[in-house]
Amino acid sequence: MKIHEYQGKELLKKFGVTVPRGIPVFTVDEAVTAAEKLGGPVWVVKAQIHAGGRGKGGGVKLARSLDEVRKISGEIMGMQLVTHQTGPAGQKVKRLMIEEGADIKQELYVSVVTDRASQRVCVMASSEGGMDIEEVAHATPEKILKVFVDPATGLTDADAAKLARDIGVPEGSIDKAVVQFKGLYTTYVETDADLAEINPLIVTGSGDVIALDAKFNFDSNSLFRHPEIVAYRDLDEEDPAEVEASKFDLAYIQLDGNIGCLVNGAGLAMATMDTIKLFGGEPANFLDVGGGATAEKVTEAFKIMLKNPELKAILVNIFGGIMRCDVIAEGVIAACKAVSLSVPLVVRMKGTNEELGKKMLADSGLPIISADTMAEAATAVVAAAK
Ligand code: ADP
Ligand code: MG
Repeated sequence: MKIHEYQGKELLKKFGVTVPRGIPVFTVDEAVTAAEKLGGPVWVVKAQIHAGGRGKGGGVKLARSLDEVRKISGEIMGMQLVTHQTGPAGQKVKRLMIEEGADIKQELYVSVVTDRASQRVCVMASSEGGMDIEEVAHATPEKILKVFVDPATGLTDADAAKLARDIGVPEGSIDKAVVQFKGLYTTYVETDADLAEINPLIVTGSGDVIALDAKFNFDSNSLFRHPEIVAYRDLDEEDPAEVEASKFDLAYIQLDGNIGCLVNGAGLAMATMDTIKLFGGEPANFLDVGGGATAEKVTEAFKIMLKNPELKAILVNIFGGIMRCDVIAEGVIAACKAVSLSVPLVVRMKGTNEELGKKMLADSGLPIISADTMAEAATAVVAAAK
């Protein structure tokens, strides 16, 4: 789960990280009031969307007067902000943060992630913070330094200080950087984040170290123990189809292609998408209906897939293990009738009660294309989508 920058900064502040003063707002009038409250002479108007790269997309701008705050807020509020993380359609800006302008002397980068190879939490930092960190990581990966943290000690003062020195924090600001690094690490651990990133972390003209941006991802498996984080959820920022799917406990991710996939089990779902691509098609979604796929769940899954205007065909690929094929067939037939299916449907079933399931589909009178192997199913659905 993702949250907005201003929410991330609230969390960071709680764990001792220094952030600029800022106020989230929902209207242009509120933006001007917020700027008055903060006091000038310089403010930054920042679009709040769940994607990075806002600065380059025109979603972060400096204002030097209240009139400018009004003008810029009016421009950014409601705009369709396109960044490298939003996709070409962009994301509509519905919230802003008005923040005090900072006196930036140095822009650094710091983040915390879990490193699977070492099975440790990894703190990454770089002297090259700011809006081009992806380019730095790509072209000069040696400029990104890493500390793998021993869970028994947490991030130590010594490790944090060395990291700060190595990325060029001036001697007089090292202690302040240590507080920021440790605060970020603690926030990450205490909130069950799987990414916590400050980019840029700045050194100001007077030597202070401040988090100018905040980006978090949380492990959704841990949200049950973090009501305070769930409260930050902003459904406007999430794909409506994915929100709908989560209500029915379906794992659904919208993709760019035109072949809908309904599969049980994440591994089989991945393999199905790969096979569709191998045979020249493009999946419209990832959809795992899980182990207990009832007729109701299958019907909802069909409804969600059919809302996608790009959809040209559907492939149902089910392995009947604990779930029997006849139950799945029943679900597919009920779903087809309930949604009055408008695109070709290819069904592949394997496993328990396979013959019975296939017979039920054949007897249903519905125009279902039956397939036996993965290759057959993919060939049929790719042809049907064309
Ligand atoms: P994004 O990463 O989505 O582009 P940031 O919050 O990092 O958004 O802002 C982009 C850039 O704008 C920063 O790298 C920084 O140079 C500048 N900036 C952001 N907030 C402030 C601020 N409060 N004062 C001055 N400059 C800022
Ligand atoms: Mg940033």
